[in-house]
Order: sequence, then C-alpha cells, then structure tokens
Amino acid sequence: MQSFWRDREIKGKSPLELLVYRSRLIGCEPKLCVWGGGNTSSKMAETDHLGRSVRILRIKGSGSDLKSCQPKDFSPLKLEEVLPALKRTAMTDEEMVEYLGRCLLDAKAPRPSIEALLHAFLPYQAIDHTHADAILSLTNTGRPRQICKEVYGEELIFIPYVKPGFDLAKTLAGEVARRPSCKGAVLEKHGLITWAEDSKTSYLRTIEMVSRAERFLASKAGNKKAFGGQKIKPFSPGLRKFFIDRFMPEFRNILSRNKPVVLHFNDSKDVLEFVSSKNGPEVSQQGPATPDHMLRTKRIPCFLELTGDFLKTKQSFKRQLEAYASAHERYYQKYKKPGMFMLDPYSAVILIPGVGMVTSGKDLDSALITAEVYEHSVRVMRGASFVDRYVSLPPRQAFEIEYWPLELYKLSLAPPEKELARKIALITGACGGIGRVVARRLAASGAQVVVTDTDRKKVQELEKEINAELKAQKVLGIPMDVTSPSSIRLAFQKIAGHLGGLDVVVSNAGVATVAALDHLSLAEWKRNLAVNATGHFLVAREALQLMKRQKMGGCFIFMATKNVPAPGAEFGAYSASKAACAQLAKIVAIEGAPFGIRSNMVNPDGVFKESGLWAEIKKDRAKTFHIAEAELEEHYRKRNLLQVRVEPEDIAEGVLFLASKRSSKTTGSMLPVDGGLREAFPR
Ligand code: ZN
Repeated sequence: MQSFWRDREIKGKSPLELLVYRSRLIGCEPKLCVWGGGNTSSKMAETDHLGRSVRILRIKGSGSDLKSCQPKDFSPLKLEEVLPALKRTAMTDEEMVEYLGRCLLDAKAPRPSIEALLHAFLPYQAIDHTHADAILSLTNTGRPRQICKEVYGEELIFIPYVKPGFDLAKTLAGEVARRPSCKGAVLEKHGLITWAEDSKTSYLRTIEMVSRAERFLASKAGNKKAFGGQKIKPFSPGLRKFFIDRFMPEFRNILSRNKPVVLHFNDSKDVLEFVSSKNGPEVSQQGPATPDHMLRTKRIPCFLELTGDFLKTKQSFKRQLEAYASAHERYYQKYKKPGMFMLDPYSAVILIPGVGMVTSGKDLDSALITAEVYEHSVRVMRGASFVDRYVSLPPRQAFEIEYWPLELYKLSLAPPEKELARKIALITGACGGIGRVVARRLAASGAQVVVTDTDRKKVQELEKEINAELKAQKVLGIPMDVTSPSSIRLAFQKIAGHLGGLDVVVSNAGVATVAALDHLSLAEWKRNLAVNATGHFLVAREALQLMKRQKMGGCFIFMATKNVPAPGAEFGAYSASKAACAQLAKIVAIEGAPFGIRSNMVNPDGVFKESGLWAEIKKDRAKTFHIAEAELEEHYRKRNLLQVRVEPEDIAEGVLFLASKRSSKTTGSMLPVDGGLREAFPR
C-alpha cells in the first residue's frame, strides 16, 4: 500500500484542514475503508462562545464519508467534559450518545461518530481508525492473537472482540496506559487503529501496518488456490448475461416483498472466483468481516444452489430466497429485545455459482455500495483462508450489531423517501424538449431513470448531466430506436440486467409532418405511423412482458396530443398516428388492469421550448395558420382559454402525477396540459 502524503500539499494548513487532508487520503484508498466507514480525529485548541481557549477533539461525524469529507463534517467535542466518562464503569449506547451530545462545542455540529470515545480516551494528538481488508484477514481467523503477534511483534496491541462503544474505548485505553510505547492496536474482527503526535506519522503508520499485513498475506498465499479451488467453471459472458436477463425481474419481485428495491449485478473477477469455488458456499455463511460491512450486506448473503434444469425453472430460486427470509425471521425471533422491529428479512446480497452477485438497495447507488462492500468481504475471506480459516462473529454478537439500537434510531431519523423512490422509470425520446425535463423531474423525485433516444452521444450526455446535477447515479442512458424491435429488446435486456426491472414507462418519442393529405407522401405517412403508433406499441409490448414477469404492477404514461380529440388541418399523419397511440394507451389500461398496471395519457399543446420536433415543423405549421413563423408561439398561447404558454415543466408535472401514487386509482384517462382548449376537452 502506497503513501500519498505530500509535504508540499500541507503547507499553511490549520490543524482542522490537516485532519481533513489526512482523512481524505485514507478515504481515497479503497483497501482501507468502504463508503462511510472508518473514522479519524485530531485534538486541538479552539475558542468557545465565551472566548476561552478549550481543548477539542475533532472527530468525524456520523453520515459523512472520509473520501469527500469537509471541515464541517468533524464534530468538535470538549475534551475536558468527555474525559471524566473514562472513570465510569459502564455506559449504555444511549447514555453515551446523550453524553457526547452535551459535550459538543457547537450544538449544530453533526452527531459524533459512534467510535468517538475510542479516540477521546487515547492521549494522542492524531488517531486513524480503519477497517482495512488486510487487517481483517489476520483477525478473522481461528488464531488472531498469534497471527497478529507474528506480523507486528509488540508494536501493536491486540484487543479481542468487544462491541464498538464505551466498553471497547475503555478496554483499549486501559491497554494503552500499560503499553504507552505501542504505535496502534488491532481490534479483533473489527479493524486497525494507529496514533501519533502528528497527522503525518499516524497516517504513515496506518499505511505501514496495512502494508505489512498485505505482505504477510501474499507470503502465505503462495500458489495456494483460494477457497479450495474451483467447483464449477464460471459461465461464459453470454450465458451469464442470459441468466441475468432471465432472472433479475424474478429476484426483484421477491426481494421487494417488504419494500421495493433496485438491483445491481456484479461479475468481477474476485466475485466470480468466490461464487464458483468449492468452499464459497460454506465460507460465505460464517458472517460479516467487520460490523461496518454488515450494516450494508446484512449478516450473511443468500448463496443460491443451482439445482436441476435451473435455466428453465424459477421455483427453486424462489424457494431458496424465501427460505433465507424465513431463516432471518427465526434469527430475529431468537435474539430480539423489547422495542425492536424486524428489518427487511430478504437478502441484500445474492451469490450465484458460475454467474456472479446481485445486490439490492433503495436505489442504484445503494445497491452499488452494497456490492462494493461485499467485494471487500470477499477479499477479507480470501486473505484469511490463506493464513488459517475464515472466522466471523457468532450470530448473537452479529445480531447485536445488525439490530444495534443506535443504527435503528438512525434509520428512524432518515428523511422521508421521495415520491418516486424505489421506482424504475423509462423515458423514450428523452433527449427532446419535453423528454429531458420529464427525465430530470422523475430523477429528482427519487426514481431510478433510464433515458433512451436514438442518438447515443446525446443520451450519454443527458445521463452525465443529470447525474452531475443530482450528485448520484440516478440516470442510466441507453440508446434505443422505438421503431426497431431488436433495439428495444436489447435496451430492455440492459434495463433488467442493470436495475432488475421496470415500474414506469413514459412513452414519449414522437415525430410530426406538416402537409395537406393530397400532398402528403407515403413515406412521411409511414414515418409518422412508425414512431407515433408502432413505436409506442413495440415499447409497450416489451414493457408489459417485463412488468408481468416482475409482478409488481406498473404504470404507463403515453405522450399523446391535443390533436387526438381535436385534430388540425395539414397535420393528418401526426393526428392519425397519435390517435392510434391514444387507442393503444386505452388497451394497455384494459389489459394491464388485472396485473395492477395503469395506463394514462398526457395531451400537451404547442410545447416549443428546446423542442426538436417543433424546430422541424415550425415554419410549415406557421404557413398553415397564415402567420409569420415568429408569431407561432403567440398564436398557440392566445388560442387557449387561460392564454398561457405551455412549458415542458407543465408536462413533467402531469407525468409525475400520473406516475405517482397520487393517481393510483386513475387509469385509461387523458390529462390535457394545453391551457384549456374547448374543442380538445376529453369526452
Ligand atoms: Zn470501527
């Protein structure tokens, strides 16, 4: 492991800035900590509200990530008030949180890390605590104390497993008082802690200790086969893809029983080696590598068994996933305490021999983090199996962490989920004026959005743009041509494979031609029908198949037009093809209803802003009305009852309403968003 410390980069930094610098270096090294894991601190002098200089512990607060931390993420604790706690003989987690809350220099600061006392009770200036993979490979074995002694001699203290909190902090402080010259400590089945009188030394010690563990593991690995070698040959990439396309919607259906989830599939080299190995099934059921991992991956994954003709039958997987949930329920019933409630009993990680790993979460980002964390768990188990055998926390201790009241309390404090949270939405023609605003709106409302359009580059740009705005992977861009069944098939395979399924379809792609019927070419007539009628059909057909397999209901919003109830002259191809789309929307409502699938339409009129469609036909449309092109937008505004200009945002509002629970009892309807046009009133 390399050090990224650069003396020139720290010139002129305040003690707090130096802490941020060191913390980010640690956070940027994936082998040291997973997202949100690890914590760092520095002790420094600060001024309180009365102008007095006080000794402060700046410790990472809950809910921030080391990689991107900022000064405000470090809670300031008054050491003079924290240290008397060391005299106590016991302190519950609740008392500790309450106590620390009263020691804050700034009442508005984030809640200090659950491991704050671990840092506070040690008399050193700079302290770094990580859950490094290589350290866990040493401690999660049958003889952790001896192995740590072999690697570190007397340089590091070894602390047998104690649940994080007051007891662990007090135990370590006691050991340090006896052996003050040690450079740090290894915490069994938990991680590493290093300290020093300055930031640089503490950071370099973390790097050095982890590097030593890595070298030790490499020396033990030699030519040994990980996890007892291969049990089955990993499937070919094509077969893996086939498997995922075939089963992800079923997995999503089962894992969503408690609350809907978004899935992610991972078949990295390490994961594939693990799931295809001889010992993988047994090792995976031992338990988590560290408490930190379990909060994401749950205690154990569901390791599927491939039985019989598994590609043809879904029943066996269903049975295994349900058996996992029942086992969790039994585990909960066995260890539960008054006031607890059972967490989602379904697995967050599914391991499939020869195929890879499926993880779940409330959105793609959280499913990705779970996958990342489990990859770390695999590396820890791999290392441990070279040294000895992998050992984890027994179920009772694992339960204490999984059902830790502090974590449950944190869950209850989480902000309410957004309106479309846990939903997966597809938008066709997403790069147009209306499409991009709808995509933004749905993503901002919590949906996992798939944007599709014919232009690959534009689709990718839109994906990047919205993800950057929302600082999350909320949008996935897939090029798709609604007139091509094979292109649609491919896109839907990607959606099922990447996210697990689909809940909302905004069938929006459309074209228009302005020409009187006696001058309309057959080619233009066909083009309008191909996109505005057949395109909607092809997408709906594929989506209905996926939704029925997924068995979680669904929702369609078809972008129709004011021209459906009130067609216009020289707009024959457009009006007739959109009428077909409207009729299709109603059939989807009729056929979808028994499956909980709704279908509605939005009828916009004259939405010009950034519209590619209007850019093409504006001139000809103005001619139809015998007005100048520049007057066209005004013409449309003045013709509606409310005399308003209809914007893409107005359409997006209608789409959001029809995609949300607020319209859960509406299907087969037409929602005009046209400023009010008497002749276009739905009837
Ligand atoms: Zn920890």
